[in-house]
Formats: sequence, C-alpha cells, structure tokens
Amino acid sequence: MARTLLDKVWEAHTVRTLPSGQTQLLIGLHLIHEVTTPQAFQMLKELNLKVRMPERTFGTLDHIIPTADQTRPYADPEAEEMAQHMYKNMKDFGVPLFDMSTGKQGIVHVIGPELGLSQPGMTIACGDSHTSTHGAVGAIAFGIGTSQVRDVLATQCLSMAKPKLRQVRVDGKLAKGVYAKDVILAIINILGVKGGVGYAYEYAGDTIDGMTMEERLTVCNMSIEGGARFGYVNPDAKTVEYLRGRPYAPKGEAFDRAATWWKSVATEPGSSFDDVKRIDGAALEPVVTWGINPEMSVGVSKTIPSPDAQPEAERPTFREALAHMGFSAGQPIKGAKIDVAFVGSCTNGRLSDLRIAAEVAKKGKVAKGVRALIVPGSQQVAKDAEAEGLHEIFKAAGFEWRKAGCSMCLGMNDDKLQGREMSASSSNRNFIGRQGSPTGRTLLMSPAMVAAAAITGAVTDVREILK
Ligand code: SF4
Repeated sequence: MARTLLDKVWEAHTVRTLPSGQTQLLIGLHLIHEVTTPQAFQMLKELNLKVRMPERTFGTLDHIIPTADQTRPYADPEAEEMAQHMYKNMKDFGVPLFDMSTGKQGIVHVIGPELGLSQPGMTIACGDSHTSTHGAVGAIAFGIGTSQVRDVLATQCLSMAKPKLRQVRVDGKLAKGVYAKDVILAIINILGVKGGVGYAYEYAGDTIDGMTMEERLTVCNMSIEGGARFGYVNPDAKTVEYLRGRPYAPKGEAFDRAATWWKSVATEPGSSFDDVKRIDGAALEPVVTWGINPEMSVGVSKTIPSPDAQPEAERPTFREALAHMGFSAGQPIKGAKIDVAFVGSCTNGRLSDLRIAAEVAKKGKVAKGVRALIVPGSQQVAKDAEAEGLHEIFKAAGFEWRKAGCSMCLGMNDDKLQGREMSASSSNRNFIGRQGSPTGRTLLMSPAMVAAAAITGAVTDVREILK
C-alpha cells in the first residue's frame, strides 16, 4: 500500500507504542534556545540527569537578544541573565551553542535548515511553536513545551499521538507580487486558525513544487497558526541541492547515500489522506491581516469583513478585533496608516525575503514618521545580504539595518511597539500584545508588502510599486 511521508517517518522513529496509545518517538534533532530551556535544565540538575544525546542537541540565542547594540552585558538585565543561563547550561551539559562569536547565530528556525542540521526524514523538536518551519525539508518538526524540552534533553524521546493527515494542494502560477507568505495566509484564512487541530499538513501541488526551499520554509513556518502542529513538503531534487555543502549535511558518498534515503521518504503516488483541500494559487493576491489572529485577513484590494456576516459564534471575536485595531467593517484595508515596518522573523527573515524587500525599498524612501527595521534571521543571512549590498539599499532608503534575532516578532527584547502603534510586519502572529505593547496593532503581510507600506506610510498594493 502506498505510504505517506508521515507514515514512514513516524514508523522509523517509533520506539514503542505506549499503553496510552501514544507513540514513544525518537527525536532526531533537538534545537534549543534561551527562553524555554532554563527550567528544563534546572529540572535535569535536580534529577541528576545528563543530556541523553548532546550530539543531537544544538543551541542558539535569538528571542531576547538586542538587535541594535549587542555589547555584553546587555542593557536589559533580564536578557543578560537569560543569556548567562544559556552559556552556563550549554557548558555544563556539553551542548554546542551558536552564539555571536560563531558566525552561526540566528533564529533557531532559520539556522537549522541553513546549517544543514534539519534534514529530510528526521523528527525535529524545539521549545517554540514555529518549529513547524523545518517541515519544509521533509521532516516531521514540531514545537514542544518546557517539560517536554526536559523530557527530550533527558531521553531524546517524546510521547505523542500520531495526527491525521490533510493534504493541502495549491496549484497554479502565483501572480507577480504574490509570495509564499500570501499563500500561507490564504490557507489559514480558508481553513481557519483551528482548521488544522488534530492534523498534520502535507503541502503539495505545483505552486508548492515550484517554490524555492526558502519559500517552502515560510509556508511550513505558519502551519501552527492554522492549528496544525506540523506541516511538511515532500523532499525532492530541490531539497537535496539546498542541503548539499551545508556545514552539518553529510559529505561525499555519505551525502549521496543520504540523498537516496531522503527522497525515499516522500509520500508515494496513490497514498490516501484523511482529508484533501485544494486552493487555486493563481487566483491569490497579496494578503494582509486586519484582525487579532492570522485567519483574519483579506486580499489587499478587499474590504474588512463585517461581524454580522460571520457565524454567530465568531461575531464576538470579530467585534473585539475591529475595536482593538480601530477598523470598521467595510473599510478597505488598503490605505490603513502604519507607524512601524518590520521585515524579519523566522517566517520572513531569510536572504530571499531581504532581496524582495530591497527591490521595493529601491523605489522610494521610508515615509515620514515611520520607523522601519530590517532584521536578518541569522548572522549568515546578514553576511550574505551585506555581500550583495542589500544593507546599503535599505540604509539609503531610511530603514534601520539590524543584527540577527527575533526582534519585533515578539516583545521579549528591545524592539517593541509603543502604545497604539500600527505595524506592518512580516512575522507570523498578530495576537494582541505580541509585538510588545498591549495596545499595539499588527498587520501581517509579505516582506514586499511591508517594504511597500514603509515607503508609502500605509498598506499599499505592492503590485502597483513593482510594475
Ligand atoms: S522569530 Fe518569532 S516566531 Fe520565530 S522563533 Fe523568534 S519569536 Fe518565535
């Protein structure tokens, strides 16, 4: 019988079936960062346990670090304390840490694939919801909580129930100015933020097949925002070429052997799914969120929907969203004024994202009164972007060129919204308070759309700028 990637990878990592019916799953790669590990390491110390497989565990600093001045000690004492814990725990437990001195530091979901740590057919866990990102290489990759971080550190295993599998097929050529971010925002809008609960998503179809690996990473990154704990793309020739030569990918003959196995884990033709959803990629336009969860979005040419047109149960959330955002039903999203523009995060902080944003930035200057940040997802992304002169394009247009980190994706570092500021953001969450101000407002969109909003001061259809 034809088998899916989920079936094959799950089976290959099954240690045993537990009495609860859950699977004891071996974790091939455990990525860790400074926020969700201090308590986990503390618990290990109290239980006098070691890290079971330090060779399969890698750490980075991303969430709390400043992206302007990274001189130690950090100005924020809490950030400094977390960094110190991370340094000490990694040394005490013999786990490698990609700090700023290594040239490999960056957002955990950017550096995993970039370093070739994340590989097809793996199970990957990290104490961060957006671990789903790594599914783009053909892995089963999911976020875990602090107590599960402890479990993986101590045993390299987790107990988990195998989810159902939904194939999300996107077909058709994307129009100019429409990107992977628009595709995943559209998927979440159509299927809902809870639509994927209990499912894993397999992304397929010729739109997905035609995407670069960086675009696939953007799509998989937001699986969790659609309720699916993980999502993946089947490994293909593009996946293999992406991994070739990366620092932690196998070398020489070992690479060829690995590539054969990687391709063998792809879903076989004729496999059956618990559900299949089809989306017309050619019909998509740039998407912008208008509300307080990533499902609340519209095409840039459309108007904000009315709560009265929603099912009864959803009306209160719609009304809350309109009140928080200061929008009215029927208002066009295009033209909504912004105060801050942020290009970065594990969704859209890769080189290709910066290239697209720079293309738009060349067309103008950051609008008066707008604060615009470009934050590379890793030191390597920053280095590559600087080698191409992208930083100069941004600086000439009035953007701030920052150092690698999570930055304004979440309010755990110095980059925060102030008061009711409205931000055009390439990140993945628009929850109330996410960007550091309880009254701050977030509009999610593609990096190109963020750059367009930065130079016009309002939500703009990037297709008009790029034509
Ligand atoms: S960029 Fe945002 S979503 Fe990604 S790891 Fe950092 S805080 Fe989490």
